[in-house]
Amino acid sequence: MNVNTKLWKLSTPIDKENPAIMEAAELLRDKQVVAFPTETVYGLGADAADEEAVQKIFEAKGRPADNPLIVHVSDPSQVFQLVTEIPEIASKLMSAFWPGPLTLVLPSNGRAAKNVTAGLTTVAIRMPNDPVALAVLHASALPLAAPSANLSGRPSPTDAEHVMQDLAGKISAVLDGGPTGVGVESTVVDCTTEIPIILRPGGVTKEDLREIVPDIIVDPALADVHNEKPKSPGMKYTHYAPESPLWLIDGDAGFFKEQLQQLKEEGQRIGVIASSELAAELDHESIIACGTRRDLAGIAGELYRALRHFKKAEVDLILCETFEETGVGAAVMNRLKKAASHKIIQH
Ligand code: AMP
Ligand code: MG
Repeated sequence: MNVNTKLWKLSTPIDKENPAIMEAAELLRDKQVVAFPTETVYGLGADAADEEAVQKIFEAKGRPADNPLIVHVSDPSQVFQLVTEIPEIASKLMSAFWPGPLTLVLPSNGRAAKNVTAGLTTVAIRMPNDPVALAVLHASALPLAAPSANLSGRPSPTDAEHVMQDLAGKISAVLDGGPTGVGVESTVVDCTTEIPIILRPGGVTKEDLREIVPDIIVDPALADVHNEKPKSPGMKYTHYAPESPLWLIDGDAGFFKEQLQQLKEEGQRIGVIASSELAAELDHESIIACGTRRDLAGIAGELYRALRHFKKAEVDLILCETFEETGVGAAVMNRLKKAASHKIIQH
């Protein structure tokens, strides 16, 4: 497919009658796919009830058909259109975290298209907290299936330019609302089991969730990637991969320097992704700093930009430090480990 992808630049506050929003809503009602910002990353939206429209998402992204999509709603009341029931614990989580980066897996009533749920009996739903996303959802009056707006396997897009790099010519339009805030995807929580399970760490932290659900479980497959099968189909795929291989260096600045030096002596061209603290200790030309270690939310916000920074023609290998797995650091390390295909050099 080679279409002329429209790109609309928006400025806030978003007027309800904004012509770009109106046109985007019209395209979505006409079974087309449109990318828009959410507070996490850019999403690629289509009418969640229409199989033909949703198929265009899978085609544009090259996404495997067995990886289900998250449905975005403009309002908690829209959830009733899609599920057989809302367990009490799910209601509590919605009240506490919606709109926001929390996706709830609920029992599907079959109204979402088959390809949205990849044939599962459950459907994943969230209400985003972004003025452009909410405006499109309201204007289209549709629940929108919307995975991240990147080619499958690549780092998720945190600005409209990333979306254009991956999908220009393949999708109808992109709404440019500037860079996203959270920078990593939503947390996915399965609410169909007696005790809810975190299937994917994300923008809402385990610590936040424990305030509402003290006994919430983390899917064991997140810790034991080699032996446990993840309950969320998408978690098994290679993801977020930069153009060149990525290795994680788990140790202090001295250890990082040693590894870097050794690889340079072998003639490798190395790109480094580092906190400002580590960057200050390294004497190296190709470094992308992604914020201070003391602010993991800031690191999350810069992570995908950093993973997209180095081009294959320029570096043979990318090295990145590891971060503390508390708060949103759990999501950062989950994405980094996947991006590195679990290649971690330990001190
Ligand atoms: P993305 O849309 O790219 O952020 O990915 C959506 C994530 O949600 C993937 O990891 C999916 O496997 C997961 N997901 C979507 N629907 C379900 C579901 N019904 N049950 C479990 N996981 C789901
Ligand atoms: Mg994705």
